[in-house]
Amino acid sequence: MSPSPPVRLPVGESVLRSESQGLRSAQQQVATISELPQVHDAFSWFRNHARELEELQLEVTAIPAPPWGESARSHWLREHFAELGLSEVHRDELGNVFGIRCGTDAAAPFIALSAHIDTVFPSDTPISVRRDDGKLYGPGVSDNSSGITALLAIAGAMRATGLANIAPILFLGNVGEEGEGDLRGMRQIYQQPQWSSSIASLVVIDGAGADTIIAEGLGSRRYEVTVRGHGGHSWSDFGVANPIVALARVIDRFTRTPVPVSPKTTYNIGIINGGTSVNSIPESATMRVDTRSASVDELDRLERALHEAVDHAIPEITGRKKQELLTAEVRIIGNRPAADLPADSPLLKMVRAVDAQLGNTARIQRASTDANVPLSLGRQAIAIGSGGSGGGAHTIHEWYDPTGRELGLKRILLLTLALCGVADE
Ligand SMILES: [Zn+2]
Repeated sequence: MSPSPPVRLPVGESVLRSESQGLRSAQQQVATISELPQVHDAFSWFRNHARELEELQLEVTAIPAPPWGESARSHWLREHFAELGLSEVHRDELGNVFGIRCGTDAAAPFIALSAHIDTVFPSDTPISVRRDDGKLYGPGVSDNSSGITALLAIAGAMRATGLANIAPILFLGNVGEEGEGDLRGMRQIYQQPQWSSSIASLVVIDGAGADTIIAEGLGSRRYEVTVRGHGGHSWSDFGVANPIVALARVIDRFTRTPVPVSPKTTYNIGIINGGTSVNSIPESATMRVDTRSASVDELDRLERALHEAVDHAIPEITGRKKQELLTAEVRIIGNRPAADLPADSPLLKMVRAVDAQLGNTARIQRASTDANVPLSLGRQAIAIGSGGSGGGAHTIHEWYDPTGRELGLKRILLLTLALCGVADE
């Protein structure tokens, strides 16, 4: 169930209003906020709660959250949002978790902070978490348990220090970011007018680090190609068309497709399956293909190349007899839109101002994140890291080093406060 929020100014109007009032530059706003005693207190809170944050991070990592299986973790997050005093805490039907820190201006649009709660790991992945030599280990510990921990740290520090935000802050733990989740959690949120018309800016917290600003969405399309045939015995049916051989020809042809360095365009054959035994001609073979590009035209071109490789390879392999015919099917299993945040956007100016204030160097990067969804709708969104450092992402050897987490948390807090404004006491 989604409670109905108070009537809010449409996003556009509020931006105009703040622009007309915008006498102070982003830099001045951030500098003023940085001097507030409650902000200093919040920074100390991050330092004093470093150990508790590590415990939370290990705890959430130990809860499996495979694609389409995020329920247990989603309930865990809901409980933590409620404990932190957020209001209107609830889950939607997909398992997205919502919590609001009310602002002094109930009609202002939301500033949203999100972290995806899903992992890439299938449900049968053994999950063991541990702390060793100051580092945290476990599948997903950095991507994205560190992001979830950052959400809880921001909500915890704001509560402990009594920071009074003007615009309300929407805390979001969303499902379905990774792989074939295909951004389904964030898509669902932006498909609902209740949220899409009332979120002014979305700050996605994804993975470790504080040295990047993902302001450019990387588009991707993914396919499952299946070749089916008659099958048979390797000896007595020798000559019957073999789907694995056909698929190999498709791969050979497709991977000869030239791709430009700029706009960067890539492809990958990530999974291949087929056959039942060494002495059987298989009845089917399947592969999964990932294509990525900064340009939709290049994605279209790769799609045509894939179809062309299939259309060419199948007749080549198919035998003369009718029962030996092979069939092929190309199915889209993922489609992430691509779009960039304009260089003069207020959100980009603000994160730049925050980095200047903290003496932090960050570069603009292109990636595929939950920010793709609002960016493709022409809305304000970026993705940044949770601080610290990490490695081994998407492997069971993943680690997170909390050294430097404070910088990432300070960055997220200052950006959030600068976007929502802080009320005078
Ligand atoms: Zn991630």
